[in-house]
Amino acid sequence: MTQAMFLVLVVEDDAGIRGVLRTLLESRQYRVVEAENAARSAIEARTHRPDLAIVDLGLPDRSGLSVIREIRSYSSMPILVLSARTMEADKVAALDAGADDYVTKPFSAPELLARVRAALRRNVRGGDVAPTLAIGTATVDFARRLVTGPAGPVHLTPLEFRLLECLARGAGMIVTQAQLVREVWGPDRPGDSRGLRTYVRLLRQKIEPNPDHPTFIVTEAGVGYRLRLEDPAAPPAS
Ligand code: CA
Repeated sequence: MTQAMFLVLVVEDDAGIRGVLRTLLESRQYRVVEAENAARSAIEARTHRPDLAIVDLGLPDRSGLSVIREIRSYSSMPILVLSARTMEADKVAALDAGADDYVTKPFSAPELLARVRAALRRNVRGGDVAPTLAIGTATVDFARRLVTGPAGPVHLTPLEFRLLECLARGAGMIVTQAQLVREVWGPDRPGDSRGLRTYVRLLRQKIEPNPDHPTFIVTEAGVGYRLRLEDPAAPPAS
């Protein structure tokens, strides 16, 4: 599927930001439909059946959260939220309401496009992990459960591997602490966020070129972690 086939619904009351998003998305051959409030977004979403929605949380008529819940009541389309940088609680609430990821304002163009690509990729692939994944200088073979670094095989414990798998399933996207704890430790043996931090640190030591300054397994303060495969500063590969 080429990008030209993807339609993006932009729900944002600020006309300036809507314009920036339209220009940016159209420059990458996405098609764009705009809604300036929640009521309009419901009409546009049902009429145009977009492939992805970008939803601002602060809308004039209803909250962006209600827009997310409404879309989720009938569609599994990926939803990206636009939120202010410091509003961690808002981000978590949006993810709980069914959003897939968020972009913090002010956003950079490469960052926004990377999020859009990741969200559409996961939707098209149906959440499967790619059979192999290059993470910097390391290669992960998920089928054979092998990790190879520049110096040869890297041993991961089963728990570390599950953690990596869980991050890779949402590659490029936020994975919340709660989600990681649930999927890595299982529903019956709940871990805790301290245990999670410990295992993230261990995993970074094995995967990251510089574990003290992680560039692939990045922390999203107060929310979770993101396996970042694209360098947001680099031009897209396509
Ligand atoms: Ca707004």
